[in-house]
Amino acid sequence: METQAGPFDFDFIVVGSGFGGSVSAHRLVEKGYRVAVMEMGRRWTPENLPRTSWSLHRWFWRPKLALRGFFNMRFFRHVTILHGCAVGGGSVTYACTSLRPPDKVWDMGSWAGLADWKTEMPQHYETASRMLGVAENTILGPADKLLKQVAEAVGVGQTFYRTNVAVFQAAEGQPGGQTVPDPYFGGEGPERTTCNACGGCMMGCRHGAKNTLDKNYLYFAEKHGARVFPETQVVDVRPLRGRADGSAGYEVRTVRSTSWLNRGARKFTCRGVVFSASALGSMELLFHLKDKGSLPHISDQLGKRVRTNSESLIGVRVPGSRDDLSKGVAIGSGAYIDEHTHIEAVRYPAGSDAMSMLATILTGGRPGPTRVLLWLKNLLVSSLFHPIKTFRILKPFGWARESVILLCMQALEGHIDMCWERPWFWPFRKFLVSRGAKVPTYIPKANEFAQKFAQLTGGTAMSMLPEILFNVPGTAHCLGGCVIASSASQGVVDYRHRVFGYKNMYVCDGSVVAANLGVNPSLTITALSERAMSFIPPAQTSQWNDAAEEQTGIAQTGV
Ligand SMILES: Cc1cc2nc3c(=O)[nH]c(=O)nc-3n(C[C@H](O)[C@H](O)[C@H](O)COP(=O)(O)OP(=O)(O)OC[C@H]3O[C@@H](n4cnc5c(N)ncnc54)[C@H](O)[C@@H]3O)c2cc1C
Ligand code: SF4
Repeated sequence: METQAGPFDFDFIVVGSGFGGSVSAHRLVEKGYRVAVMEMGRRWTPENLPRTSWSLHRWFWRPKLALRGFFNMRFFRHVTILHGCAVGGGSVTYACTSLRPPDKVWDMGSWAGLADWKTEMPQHYETASRMLGVAENTILGPADKLLKQVAEAVGVGQTFYRTNVAVFQAAEGQPGGQTVPDPYFGGEGPERTTCNACGGCMMGCRHGAKNTLDKNYLYFAEKHGARVFPETQVVDVRPLRGRADGSAGYEVRTVRSTSWLNRGARKFTCRGVVFSASALGSMELLFHLKDKGSLPHISDQLGKRVRTNSESLIGVRVPGSRDDLSKGVAIGSGAYIDEHTHIEAVRYPAGSDAMSMLATILTGGRPGPTRVLLWLKNLLVSSLFHPIKTFRILKPFGWARESVILLCMQALEGHIDMCWERPWFWPFRKFLVSRGAKVPTYIPKANEFAQKFAQLTGGTAMSMLPEILFNVPGTAHCLGGCVIASSASQGVVDYRHRVFGYKNMYVCDGSVVAANLGVNPSLTITALSERAMSFIPPAQTSQWNDAAEEQTGIAQTGV
């Protein structure tokens, strides 16, 4: 295409194909733009997804170790971050819970007052829910029924609810496993199969029932002309023709993410860029580009106000459980144990026991060395006095069938910062490192709930090993780092996700979220991206002059 400023390979390049990236690609193609999506992860189909988590090479993402799966864990001083890496981003490994946060989140953080969020967002949540096929979960598995019983026993039974999930469920009375032509988009979408409640959503759905992005947003983006480049990692984005603000377009450089020796370096040009590499991915890439001088004007607020949703992963194992606790959808239900604290019942499918390596006996006490000692003492006492029971709760095999994971989230303010530094132990290059006050490693009320759960089910309460050993919580919901704000002195993008300091450059992913949502974030990321894309004009009328607006006189709260 020949334009005023010269030929470009694409109008827009989208970096990452998760929730923000797939929405962006679909909506931009719909508006008539030529779009490429660069995705570091692989493309997955029911045929190549792993059967269980023991297929580490197909589950875990560490290409340098020949692990080319779709799930990754990154370890930082303050937090362990779990995230997806695939064509379809986190949707391939996510548990498909799609919840709206309470309205109060729009009054918190640096986005407060920048738009009439409470009036604008409902329409975008509606569109996002329709596109993702979100509906109330109709399948309550044994783990959900136990959660209900325990919630009733502790006096919060009225808060128990079935989650909303992005799953194609069978009509009432019909069996799962039935394949039908596209039920969602008037026949325009792919054929689908009804859910059989195998509990395998986080291992990738091998049955075609989970509404992953490659079955909706990304499917339509590709169908209507977007080019998706799998296993392609973006390593550089720099303005073209010496125009530092990007007004003459950008050069995007990529390498092949799954090869080590022949990295297959390529260059593409485009007029606009959408960063959708997830909170962690966009922060990491933008830090690298700011530091090497490719995008030096990215706000110094990059990496600030990273939120972990105040989360704690605990659980209960019921050795010899008569019921198969892995049945149901991955997150089938939830309950509120107090105004701020939300617990969901989570499961892995039977046989996917690899995560048990990170589980251990729940231990209270103050974080730090005394807690480690207490844990060692508990382990020793349990092994000496109840050796068989201890073996049965710690043995990996049977873990998924016998366990309910309790995902506890709190909608409270609190954040850490990420920086780009050369660590003392490896001075050869810079890495993303976490800074700031420690996030609480465990939520006492959630631990009490797990203990009550264990008491009522005859099981044992469990927690995550890194939480005890390193005083580091785990989260699958890292948010923030490129937050929406009134100016470059407060955040990285404006209220329309335009990057301060550059033209035709956007961030659409979890990194823009400026408050702790207290619920799983993918529906909000989808709705926010729908909103951001709604402001971009159709291709024929684009002036290619879209720049962030600084706003003054905004009342900032909770920053
Ligand atoms: C096990 C698990 C279960 C979860 N369950 C739920 C749930 O039930 N409900 C919910 O709401 N959320 C859930 N989440 C969280 C959810 O997956 C994320 O919040 C969501 O995917 C974030 O969307 P995103 O658009 O920010 O980016 P992502 O969906 O993470 O997509 C970003 C993509 O960018 C790619 N990328 C990164 N860097 C580059 C680069 N340099 N070049 C090219 N590509 C790049 C990545 O490979 C990735 O595919 C879960 C997460 C995990 C790990
Ligand atoms: S429970 Fe099983 S069939 Fe249903 S969506 Fe999850 S993985 Fe697919």
